[in-house]
Amino acid sequence: MQNSLWQAVLGEIELSMSRGSFITWFKNTSVLRQDEESITIGVPNVFIKQHIERKFNTMITDILKKQGLTIRVEYKASAARKPALDEEQIILSPTPGATTSASKQIKTPARSSALAHNYRQGLNERYTFENFIVGSGNELAYAACQAAATQPGTKYNPLFLYGGVGIGKTHLMQAVGNSILAGKPTARVVYVSSEQFLQEFVDALRFKKISDFVDFYRGADVLIVDDVQFIAGKEKAQEEFFHTFNALHQANKQIIISSDRAPREIATLEERLRSRFVWGMSIDMQTPDFETRCAILQTKAAGHDIELDKEVTEYLATNVQTNIRELEGALNQLLAFCEMRGLQPDINIASSLLGSHQTRPKHISAKQIIERTARHFQVPMEDMLGPKRDKDIVVPRQVAMYMLRSELHLSFPKIARELGRKDHTTAIHSVEKIEKESHFDVELRTAIAEIKERLHV
Ligand code: ADP
Ligand code: MG
Repeated sequence: MQNSLWQAVLGEIELSMSRGSFITWFKNTSVLRQDEESITIGVPNVFIKQHIERKFNTMITDILKKQGLTIRVEYKASAARKPALDEEQIILSPTPGATTSASKQIKTPARSSALAHNYRQGLNERYTFENFIVGSGNELAYAACQAAATQPGTKYNPLFLYGGVGIGKTHLMQAVGNSILAGKPTARVVYVSSEQFLQEFVDALRFKKISDFVDFYRGADVLIVDDVQFIAGKEKAQEEFFHTFNALHQANKQIIISSDRAPREIATLEERLRSRFVWGMSIDMQTPDFETRCAILQTKAAGHDIELDKEVTEYLATNVQTNIRELEGALNQLLAFCEMRGLQPDINIASSLLGSHQTRPKHISAKQIIERTARHFQVPMEDMLGPKRDKDIVVPRQVAMYMLRSELHLSFPKIARELGRKDHTTAIHSVEKIEKESHFDVELRTAIAEIKERLHV
């Protein structure tokens, strides 16, 4: 029970950060102890312990509070747990062609060295084709991924999946990797987020290990790169990726790439990469429809040995529409809440929990977002939508575009139109600019948070 609580907390944390960071900081964490006053979370090492204490403790305490537990949280670095088999398999030999068995290599604990290959994180066996529910929005992607798994490198190469967050891109790509490994345990399947690729590349340069890095990636049988949009604008890394891509493609090795948007919409992506990304097949994934969302919920609940009744299922599927990760988060929260109190999940509990769960009220319109943003920055609506280019109007306009993207997942042409612009590249640049700046500009980040909060009350 303690760990199901922690799973629920992890579910919420995962919503607030990129998959790469989530895995880096929260993989292999678990509840060690819990009593009335405190809960102790075991983490893999001291480095991670310190980072979590500094950066995430407040968030974790708050989430627990929301679950009804006002409690002190402590972290303890425990000896690295033996990774599950799936994690072993993807820690691959840095040298292509070397036949050392994978299990021998994991003796070096994760992150023990700055050398990229030792802290590789990768496939999670939880993501399979079997537990992926197929329905409108994802069926084409599912079929293409199955083809890539049964005949890697022959049919759709590269396979490029794109679409909003939490709709199953990572799940499907990982399922390909897992399925290939199940058939051929020695296959060199490399799964990497583009952020991780970047980080490894930078480290390899710094520690003069670039040839290991290059060999490693070019020695892959299957290369899966998740969230490739983060590589955009990083010239050197893009160049390296370009060469890796070519080498693998020429050798008919399967390449699978995901992104939150279509290749042509990644503004600072090098043209030659963009053109290669569309060589094979690109698939626009959409949020699954209502029936599919219900099926997903029931399957996930069944995984916890709980039969969710129709009313609760439909309530959740209606109220969490855009994002399967949020849907799963809401379900986990409900199940953990009920388990802790020995209750049966019902619609009343679901609705009171969802009330506190920050779901997007579905009636927010583009216009409301623009108005809210305008009001926040005290810019008249006609200026937001008009031609003026003064800085104190341009920035709010860009923020509005960013909000339309992050809150409503509108397409770029639609975003441009909503703000009276003809050219959708303006929208792409604006969204990217705000995305980037909000990382280091606290004021901007606060403004965005405030606008969002107002929208949701
Ligand atoms: P993305 O990479 O598109 O942001 P993920 O693949 O991480 O999304 O999916 C988010 C969560 O939702 C994962 O836990 C995944 O297992 C689950 N999920 C998404 N789509 C489905 C589906 N069709 N069937 C079952 N689970 C799904
Ligand atoms: Mg993903």
